[in-house]
Amino acid sequence: MDGTSGTIDAGAMLAQVQAWSAVNTGTANLAGLAEQADMLADAFGVLPGTVELVDPAPVTAIAADGSAIEKPHGRHLVVRVRPQANRRILLTGHMDTVFPADHAFQRLTWLDNATINGPGVADMKGGIAVMLHALMAFEATASASGLGYDVLINSDEETGSLASRALIAELAAGKLAALTYEPAALPDGTLAHERGGTGNYSIVVTGKSAHAGRNPHEGRNAIVAAADLILRLKALESEDITINPAKLEGGAANNVVPDTAVLRFNIRPKTVEAGAAFDHALGHLLTAIEAAHGVATHCHGGVTRPPKPVDAAAQKLFDLVRACGAELGQDIRWQRSGGVCDGNNIAACGVPVVDTMGVRGGAIHSPDEYLIVPSLAERAALSARVIERLAQGALS
Ligand SMILES: [Zn+2]
Repeated sequence: MDGTSGTIDAGAMLAQVQAWSAVNTGTANLAGLAEQADMLADAFGVLPGTVELVDPAPVTAIAADGSAIEKPHGRHLVVRVRPQANRRILLTGHMDTVFPADHAFQRLTWLDNATINGPGVADMKGGIAVMLHALMAFEATASASGLGYDVLINSDEETGSLASRALIAELAAGKLAALTYEPAALPDGTLAHERGGTGNYSIVVTGKSAHAGRNPHEGRNAIVAAADLILRLKALESEDITINPAKLEGGAANNVVPDTAVLRFNIRPKTVEAGAAFDHALGHLLTAIEAAHGVATHCHGGVTRPPKPVDAAAQKLFDLVRACGAELGQDIRWQRSGGVCDGNNIAACGVPVVDTMGVRGGAIHSPDEYLIVPSLAERAALSARVIERLAQGALS
């Protein structure tokens, strides 16, 4: 009855997490990411498929002076197993962490005999081990031939997956379901259910410089226009969306009317409609600011992670995870999350996704990040069971 028990090697999982976490993979650390990608390509080579490293898509950002600059990223790992199968799923994870190469948090420390502290142990090198060992256990079952799958481990999730979002959409297409290996929402294993969305914007305001004493009326003050924009943006907040003006850059000497300002802000729409309504309102707002201040504006960015509602098909996948958990003596619950991840982008492709299939742990994105070590094998058993059920026809 239980096709997957007894085949998960907890010691091997822990050894991999320790080795992977010892390599710094801050999203901007291209050397570290390349080293990690090679380690992961090697590890995932045990699966009966093809392993490939895919170049990142080009990403532009706006510099403090308003100019566009290209941001380099690491390569993404893609594994394809039985691509001809009728039933196929997508499994995703990320190899990058929020800790840059020069951050103080680089080492692993045992907190007690079941808890390890270290960069990325929960978010999500532990999750990558859960995914890999679940797939290894699944491959040992009689059902394996009935399911194909793609694995994506991207290098840029922590900065919004701008260099991998097209790849995510390409790999999600035609899939029955997706599993993403972010750590559980709570240390007890609770899953993240619905998620809001997020968008990041840079607005370049271009005015006209002039002498602050001789001819100030001939200038067009970009900072004043940007300040007006900030106040009017904040006024667009509602129940369905929060708006956070985060950074205003620009200006020059005290005796110069500044001709450039760059405003950065983040939005958190709760619904797809709220995000679309904001973009529409922003267009009008920029036109009004241009008219009121005699400036030009350029808008860069937008919603990068759409809100993730849980529709009927996605709920079936949650119910399947809970049922599999019950069979293994694991009480699986879920709750709404304020965070975002690649699950948002997968759901936007119309594919049911549970995006917190990774380890139990906590304090992620901080030097207190920890992994509850026994959860490695526990969550791998859960995932293996879910994948086996999907192979046997659940959801299809
Ligand atoms: Zn993560």
